[in-house]
Amino acid sequence: MDRNAIEKMVKTIDGYRDEVIRLQTELCKRPALGPDNDGDGEIEKAEFLKDYLAAIGFSDIQQYNAPDKRVPSGYRPNIVALLPGRRKSPRVWIMTHTDVVPPGDLGKWTGDPWVVRVDGDKVIGRGTEDNQQGMVSSLLAARAFRDTGVKPNLPYGVILCADEETGNEYGVRYLLDKHKSLFSKDDLIIIPDAGDHRGTMIEVAEKSILWMRFHTRGKQTHGSTPDKGRNAHKAACYLATRMETLYGKFKKRDPLFDPPISTFEPTKKEANVPNVNTIPGEDVLFFDCRVLPDYKLSAVKKAVRVMVRETEKRYGVKIAVEYPQMETAAPPTPPDAPVATAIARAVFPLGRRDGLPESAAGRAARRWA
Ligand SMILES: [Zn+2]
Repeated sequence: MDRNAIEKMVKTIDGYRDEVIRLQTELCKRPALGPDNDGDGEIEKAEFLKDYLAAIGFSDIQQYNAPDKRVPSGYRPNIVALLPGRRKSPRVWIMTHTDVVPPGDLGKWTGDPWVVRVDGDKVIGRGTEDNQQGMVSSLLAARAFRDTGVKPNLPYGVILCADEETGNEYGVRYLLDKHKSLFSKDDLIIIPDAGDHRGTMIEVAEKSILWMRFHTRGKQTHGSTPDKGRNAHKAACYLATRMETLYGKFKKRDPLFDPPISTFEPTKKEANVPNVNTIPGEDVLFFDCRVLPDYKLSAVKKAVRVMVRETEKRYGVKIAVEYPQMETAAPPTPPDAPVATAIARAVFPLGRRDGLPESAAGRAARRWA
């Protein structure tokens, strides 16, 4: 696009404040909770979005329903819509998700989570940030093409997925399994679902996630006679500190990440005995590990097993290990991939215009140059 066209687009988008609020309000009042969160799915929100896509000029709107008997409609809707460009390829896709997480404790909200409130330049409501901020932006970019009459160089598409918050099985995973031909290797795919408040962070890589649950069983006894029992809590404490050695075993650093290392941290601890003078016969301890994609999670699990055996032997206990969550990260996108450099080229001039501190823009630009 030439400079004139870009300026026209940016100016038009600057005038969308009311439309952002209106759209956020409409999306927010259609709670899209998946069945894993005791919801009815995304259908109501998806129907609204289909109408909106048609209204802002998308003629090619496709719906891909992932069958799911747990919701009243029987399916989870995924919508893919495309605007033609001057060229045919590659295509630029913005992918966002329609589902949200439950509001949690309503007493902690200052208002109804499903009713948008505006506080200065903040739009408050469940889902306004995750992921409606990205979704609304992607829709209003398309609307700006229509309102200005500017034709994009490349085809511009939006992907509105179901089921991102609880595993993607009925969302993007379904699209990739059943409708792989929708996308091609050269396509530029942007997922605005992480970042910082300035919009300067471009995420190109994610760590793998591994949650562990250690259930230690020993023998309960009185606090005065430890020799008559086997202290499950002490064994678990020992294991927890031994786990610190994972930092040394998996010590690669990668400046793409913040922090740049794999992390292995004890987190949740289930309550054991209620009184001080009882040596616990049982102990349940959790770890949350975030592992650089260079490492296989199976290697981490293997190292953990060795320490578990050692702890069992040392303290005469049995330790059952479970993995409540285990998600291997996709391979990183190279920071100099066309999609990453294109975003950087687009974002930093806008950042300067909006008075972004030079240091932040400069740091980010260097990082992505
Ligand atoms: Zn999200």
